[in-house]
Amino acid sequence: MTQTAQPVDEIQIGCHISTAGGVDKSPPRGAELGAGCMQIFTRNQMSWSHKDLGDAEIKGFAAGVRQHGIGTVMSHDSYLINLCSPDPDKHAKSLAGFMAEVERCTRLGIGLLNFHPGAHMGKGVEWGIATIADSLNRVTAAFPDTPVKLVLETVAGQGSTVGRSFAELAAILERLEQPQRFGICVDTAHVFAAGYAIDTEAGWNTTWEEFERLLGLEKLLAFHVNDSKVKRGSHVDRHALIGRGHIGPDAFLRLVTDPRTRCVPMMLETPAGEGGYAAEIAWLTAAAHGEVPPLPEIAEVKRGY
Ligand SMILES: [Zn+2]
Ligand SMILES: [Zn+2]
Repeated sequence: MTQTAQPVDEIQIGCHISTAGGVDKSPPRGAELGAGCMQIFTRNQMSWSHKDLGDAEIKGFAAGVRQHGIGTVMSHDSYLINLCSPDPDKHAKSLAGFMAEVERCTRLGIGLLNFHPGAHMGKGVEWGIATIADSLNRVTAAFPDTPVKLVLETVAGQGSTVGRSFAELAAILERLEQPQRFGICVDTAHVFAAGYAIDTEAGWNTTWEEFERLLGLEKLLAFHVNDSKVKRGSHVDRHALIGRGHIGPDAFLRLVTDPRTRCVPMMLETPAGEGGYAAEIAWLTAAAHGEVPPLPEIAEVKRGY
């Protein structure tokens, strides 16, 4: 497939933004950091219970996104959800929680809903893939009209998690009744920990050739942009500051300049936190315009992503 070069001003570089005090508080926070796109939790990601969104909160959020010129908005679904839990109660709770999130995203006008595919807990990857696809088919059947795209995130491959390779994600997509309603979010730290050699130029190229062959680049809807505190192939999920981990700065220079990746919305989830994201966004933006500025000095915060 030939790639059409897109103008560099179409890049969207942003980060995960806190919704403390209400989702409507997040767009101005994003704007203050210079975020062109953003990711949020629409609810407490570590709890099953949640309070319903109020009309004022919904209107305030949509107005804030417009007013502050935020492009793509992505929700990150709850960490408790496991669409292939072998425990029937947990699976039912997961499916209900997932559907509630589709509903919230629809009401908020959020375009992308990112989620971890699931963990088979010892039942085997084939079983996991089939169960995830079956769960997702129930979601799309229940929401025939929502414009929200459902985005499967690549995982590092810790424990029994499914989605550690493009082949596993492709196997899920092949079983979907409405695959056009789905996309992929590549987390740079996760694919590196899963074994993809994005730290080298040759590995970068083979990674995207494999993505194109198995999934198609049109399925690439977002990036989680993170360096990695662990070595390639460690199968552990530990985010590092951009350029300061085992991936290193060159991969991020490629990310923001390669025509295959540079216009895909990019969300930072590094330990820079909201105190340091502005500097990382500025560095990536300068790099996208062909500069190679020195890496920013950032004090790390503890992260839960
Ligand atoms: Zn995630
Ligand atoms: Zn992660």
